[in-house]
Amino acid sequence: MRDFTVKKYKALIRVLLNEGYKTLSVEQAILLSDVREAEKIAIIRHDIDTRFDLPIAIEMATFENKNNVTASYYFRSVPETFHTGTIEQIRDLGHEIGYHYEVMSLAKGNEAEAMKRFKRDLEELRRICEIKTICQHGGAMGHYNTTSLSGLMEIGWDYLRGKIRRIEYYPSINLWEKYRLKDYGLVGDAYLSLDFSIFKYFSDTGQRWDSHETRILDNIQESQNYSEITARDTNDLIDLIRSEKIRFINLLVHPANWNDPYFPWLKWRILQKVRNNLKKLYNPNVHS
Ligand SMILES: [Zn+2]
Repeated sequence: MRDFTVKKYKALIRVLLNEGYKTLSVEQAILLSDVREAEKIAIIRHDIDTRFDLPIAIEMATFENKNNVTASYYFRSVPETFHTGTIEQIRDLGHEIGYHYEVMSLAKGNEAEAMKRFKRDLEELRRICEIKTICQHGGAMGHYNTTSLSGLMEIGWDYLRGKIRRIEYYPSINLWEKYRLKDYGLVGDAYLSLDFSIFKYFSDTGQRWDSHETRILDNIQESQNYSEITARDTNDLIDLIRSEKIRFINLLVHPANWNDPYFPWLKWRILQKVRNNLKKLYNPNVHS
């Protein structure tokens, strides 16, 4: 079976369920009083980064609903992904909707502007559904389009000309050193409010589960116990789940990474390979 198809994603979820994992949304996991009391837990989070995520998100959300899995779907507030119909459908399937924020990037580092936008976006999302948790969107590639080959070629070309070093990246997550989530009616942030030393984090970024070196922004602290546990492809991850080496899993799945039809699948495979290689060349100019 090809990896990174919706079929494969469904197989992964079935294995989690068969192995006795309790699946939780981010909000449910944050509100859990004592994680360790549970036998096995898998947090399932989906980030909706581009328009390509939307139809696949609905497919995943429907499957999860049929299998009594509650997941979290984080939507960016940009027009490409702020799709009311999709948000409503996923809400109606019983999943958590969260806000995938990037306000410091959008406000080019202007904090007051960023918080104004944050408030406005939350209000807009809350017209559709309850929002209890948030999660930062990376976006370290700045204005570049990383979902087309021409967009990636632009990055390569700018890199060769030395221009790429001028991209400025402003992380939004640092805002919470100064502002308080609860002042915005929020119970938590997917990176800040979950204990990564308990939950082993797996992200499908770049269509590989061990993408630490290509994942620029969500580098998180995890416990030493987990440093040797890795999975490259989904079969490795399935083997790990069956091996009972881990009891607490935090999964990040970008729907667009998973395609059933052959040509979109092949296109995405190539894009991710090129993107992974480009990311190795590139270090964002991080402003704290
Ligand atoms: Zn994102």
